[in-house]
Amino acid sequence: MKITIVGAGAMGSFFGGLLAESGNDVTLVDVNDAHIDVISADGLRLETDSGDRQVRSLRVCRPEGATDLPQLLVVFTKTLHTGAALSGVQHLIGPDVHVLSLQNGLGNVEKIAEFVSPERILIGVTTWPADMVAPGHVHSHGKGVVRLMAADGVSRPIVSQVSETLSGAGLACTSDSTVWAAIWEKVAFNAALNSICAVSGCTVDQLGLVSDGKRLADEVILEVLSVAQRLGIDVDVAKCKASVAGAIAQHKGHKPSMLQDVLAGRRTEIEAINGAAVAAAGRVNLKLPTTETLLSLVRLAEARAVA
Ligand code: NAD
Repeated sequence: MKITIVGAGAMGSFFGGLLAESGNDVTLVDVNDAHIDVISADGLRLETDSGDRQVRSLRVCRPEGATDLPQLLVVFTKTLHTGAALSGVQHLIGPDVHVLSLQNGLGNVEKIAEFVSPERILIGVTTWPADMVAPGHVHSHGKGVVRLMAADGVSRPIVSQVSETLSGAGLACTSDSTVWAAIWEKVAFNAALNSICAVSGCTVDQLGLVSDGKRLADEVILEVLSVAQRLGIDVDVAKCKASVAGAIAQHKGHKPSMLQDVLAGRRTEIEAINGAAVAAAGRVNLKLPTTETLLSLVRLAEARAVA
């Protein structure tokens, strides 16, 4: 498949590297010149459980340098950059392109729909992890899955084609009509752990130091998933609370991305996570007091960090 990945940081490079290795025609598009220069010169260094290697069978360029129309455009920027990223590659959005988002948060379909008609948007969720080690070098350890569907819920051949392509690259993808439940459960998980860690400075396991950490996280889970339930989405509250408890028990020393962003003086994905959950709650006459308080606190921490 001819695939362009816009936003080729940790996740975009990891997916792009595996898709190129499995024989797809892959172009990475990014605005990080240091990352582009290293990949152009030496290929992408990809470290996974399958080994540490250079992937040279892909192209990399800035948005204005990309010219080939892809069949699939994968958006893997942080959510706050989706609009700018799609504006930058608008010339690649031909009549036959499909756009896939596996980004975290809510509102991704609405943002992409400003650039492409809704029946050409695929939406999903992934549990694969990835980190950027240095320009041109990403790693991902452990296992994950991808679940995706057409954003409008209509079953089309492209959904299984993309799913098979991702699975062919080792990314364990299934087409799944219950993706919205998984998206909301991940939003609840991230609204809890990311925002509490971002404002407290705690790593995930440190949320277990006093009972308040787990109690706050559980409150956020209940609040956020109450919105999904009001919307008729069949989310699993007990599973989500168990995931949070498991993360606190096991993720020793892990700094969630929102904490990493605040520490590095970058803007966070808070608006697509706590912000979007609070906005969705407002539309169905629900209030999320703990989630909203954490939203305000992360906004403050972020404003101080980027000042
Ligand atoms: P990242 O910051 O490593 O990568 C984002 C990339 O987008 C960067 O390389 C950046 O230069 C690029 N970018 C920014 N603006 C751009 C523009 N206008 N045009 C082109 N490129 C642009 O982020 P990430 O960790 O790869 O996360 C991407 C998304 O995937 C996020 O929504 C995140 O929540 C989600 N996600 C991440 C993980 C993970 O383990 N890292 C896991 C699941 C989901």
